[in-house]
Amino acid sequence: MNFTRSEALFEEAQKYLPGGVDSPVRAFKSVGGIPPFMVKGAGSKIYDVDGNEYIDYICSWGPLILGHSHPQVLDAIKKVAELGTSFGAPTELEITLAKMVAAAIPSIEMVRFVNSGTEATMTALRLARGYTGKDKIIKFSGGYHGHADGLLVKGGSGMATLSLPNCPGVPTKYVENTLVATYNDADSVEQLFKSNPGEIAAVIVEPIAANIGLVPPLTGFLKDLRRITKENDALLIFDEVISGFRVGYGGAQALYGITPDLTCLGKIIGGGLPVGAYGGKREIMSMIAPAGPVYQAGTLSGNPLAVTAGIETLKVLSQPGVYEQLDKSTDLLEAGIKKAISSLNLNIQVSRLASLLTIFFTDNPLTDYDSVATADTAMFAKFHQQLLRSGIYWAPSQFEAAFISLAHTDTDINTTIDKISDALSFAAR
Ligand SMILES: *Cc1c(COP(=O)(O)O)cnc(C)c1O
Repeated sequence: MNFTRSEALFEEAQKYLPGGVDSPVRAFKSVGGIPPFMVKGAGSKIYDVDGNEYIDYICSWGPLILGHSHPQVLDAIKKVAELGTSFGAPTELEITLAKMVAAAIPSIEMVRFVNSGTEATMTALRLARGYTGKDKIIKFSGGYHGHADGLLVKGGSGMATLSLPNCPGVPTKYVENTLVATYNDADSVEQLFKSNPGEIAAVIVEPIAANIGLVPPLTGFLKDLRRITKENDALLIFDEVISGFRVGYGGAQALYGITPDLTCLGKIIGGGLPVGAYGGKREIMSMIAPAGPVYQAGTLSGNPLAVTAGIETLKVLSQPGVYEQLDKSTDLLEAGIKKAISSLNLNIQVSRLASLLTIFFTDNPLTDYDSVATADTAMFAKFHQQLLRSGIYWAPSQFEAAFISLAHTDTDINTTIDKISDALSFAAR
């Protein structure tokens, strides 16, 4: 495989864009080599400037659950674009998507659309503070909720990969009210509530941790969080930016039967365009301006293109059999990888839930950030380089999940299993 043109572009890009990219993980720093520059996506495939074709397991980091360039989404976006790309005024499309979200996720009675997951979590926390009148919040080590100042503490893949324990530019004062607990350890949460009585506004959690690689919640963990937050008059915020519409049409909250007070969404609900959303009980959401005093605004929020892409994506996802198909494809992939691992006698493991999957280069039991941090990242880097050369576009970090889409065929998956098997044996050498 030849990367000549990407190499030239990456050099050029680094003169004008910090690190040559607009989001850190894209630079392939933790795996070495250069990132291919992309020109086109179609279905399960993505194509770079050198004419290389890849089977894509990044899928824009989650949004493209239908695959690239889904005709129904593209046609709808083209039609609304002809009418204008943004009005800065209300449209009926926003009501349509809000109704679809509320129907899918009953804990969301009202929703506000924003432009990114970062905005969604940042505002959900502001709202929780405004509603409870308390300042402190709890997040989990390795939990990623976007890059708002107060959340840049122990932040998951991007920060884990780059080893940025603290981010320069974030005043200590801004993170003083951010308390950090251990994922899958409800006692660590209870302890923080005990040592900060009456001061904690909310617990924010990825119900299914996916930004340290995939680490599902242990039985009872989310239920404990619900109980502890209730007992302490704090809000429970589910950051479902990845899990929403991914692990099922109702997200993680439907899967585990837990009702959070607020939910953050993003990625899939934008169908590949920039979107985020936060929503919850009417009583809480009515605190948001202009209905209430908690301010949040956005020039392009709820714009017709992004909302349309979201509507069409949810239309497809609400059809029967869709999540079963995703499960079936991912079953096939998981089984194939496990078989390769055992025939190569490797002490590594596959973590998988719904259409999310991480190959962890460790045999440690995985429950939280510290346990995944034991993974052999040098071996992962070798594995990744080999996979890329063989036409499989896999997340360039040990601490990410692969995303399987509806466009991935059994042929794609079988090809992928062969290439993964080869790359594992190469990495183990
Ligand atoms: C991606 C992500 C975010 C941030 O969303 P952006 O649109 O990138 O700002 C927040 N929370 C989780 C769980 C995410 O995976």
